[in-house]
Amino acid sequence: MKPFNVDLHIHSPHSISVSKNLNLDTMVETCKKKGLDIIGTGDILQPTWLKYMENNLLNEKDGIFLYKNVNFILQTEIEDKENIHEVVLLPDFEAARELQKKLKPFSKNLMNEWGGRPRVNLSPPELVDEVDAAGGLIGPAHAFTPFKAIFRQNKYSTLKECYQDSLKKVSFLELGLSADTYIADRMKSLKDISFLSNSDAHSEGPTSLGREFNRFEIEKPNFEEIVLALKRQRGRKIILNVGLDPRLGKYYNMFCNKCRRRIIFKTGKVKSYGFLSNYKIDVNFVTYLVSDPKIARKNYQKDVDKGKVICPACKNDFKKNIKIKLGVFERIEMISDYEQPKHPPHRPPYIDIIPLVEIIRKVQNIKSSKSKTVEKIYNDLINKLGVEFSILIDLPIKKISEVNNEIAIVIDSFRKGNIEVLTGGGGVFGEIKI
Ligand SMILES: [Zn+2]
Ligand SMILES: [Zn+2]
Repeated sequence: MKPFNVDLHIHSPHSISVSKNLNLDTMVETCKKKGLDIIGTGDILQPTWLKYMENNLLNEKDGIFLYKNVNFILQTEIEDKENIHEVVLLPDFEAARELQKKLKPFSKNLMNEWGGRPRVNLSPPELVDEVDAAGGLIGPAHAFTPFKAIFRQNKYSTLKECYQDSLKKVSFLELGLSADTYIADRMKSLKDISFLSNSDAHSEGPTSLGREFNRFEIEKPNFEEIVLALKRQRGRKIILNVGLDPRLGKYYNMFCNKCRRRIIFKTGKVKSYGFLSNYKIDVNFVTYLVSDPKIARKNYQKDVDKGKVICPACKNDFKKNIKIKLGVFERIEMISDYEQPKHPPHRPPYIDIIPLVEIIRKVQNIKSSKSKTVEKIYNDLINKLGVEFSILIDLPIKKISEVNNEIAIVIDSFRKGNIEVLTGGGGVFGEIKI
């Protein structure tokens, strides 16, 4: 059995806000630098992208397709009738064509230029049944984000409620950038399902592709081995999930649906004329000053969950939806069974980390991750030490510090879980503090 680094959720230029430079060549270039062994094609049901893949991925072998020695698996994301996104994996082009044909009558955009992530007018169980009938695998995407996700506010709080009797055909749950194993394992109902940590990449670059990934332990790259690993059968399994610290995700804290300010609570003097009367508003935050931030926040989030709370920064704007929405952090508080995660014995470790380019950028105190200096340091590290994933996860810190001591110190803190962060929310990524 061998370890393979796997990213099973990406997009194509046929989805909104995806880089025009994303193609097989640019993807492969990044995969080789990062050490990604198996990667999803993205958007495989979109006709132009499907044709492009069919013409270029030639060496099919048991559900895995080679392009310049990188393994590709046919993959898409579909939005169902309940506005839930689902990740779908397919064993071959025949299955992709069959599923495309089956879903066509239920979708207005599947065959369009912009049908990369098609919307299909089927319920979650109906969609699961169709994908299963085509020989594919399916599971909820970015399960905890406040938009288009199974566990979002006012939606489901267990897999069973959503998929009903078709739950047995659901093969995995994707954690998404705003959640990790520590969050998800606070829910009792998720103890039997395998978690995936995928990038959901919208660009070919090293800050996007593989920014989250899974390490599978399988015999060789093929579809059946992936199935066995997700079912944890015959010794095949996922041995590691790697991804962003959820606090760095875009939707960690609750936020105003209009101005996107995050709502936070800090200790401060309460004015005599009432609870929640003392707050500060700045560009990114509404900060409530209260005597007990934890209790105040818990009470507040219950009202937010009921859809009752209006943003203090936009309260004079009656036209727009100015309601506060729960972030991942508060939503999990509402639907979790445990205060602390209870990991089932099969659950692999989760390492919170960010892409190497982001670490370099932070250490150098440079704004743009596309800076030439950052690129030069990145390429230098890779030339001297090997692929990005082994630098981030596997190499002894001493080895890294021989090349760049500052970077080594930050990677060491990540591995030990000692990184300080400014939390994200409302569509803004968090930041690490060095
Ligand atoms: Zn999605
Ligand atoms: Zn607002």
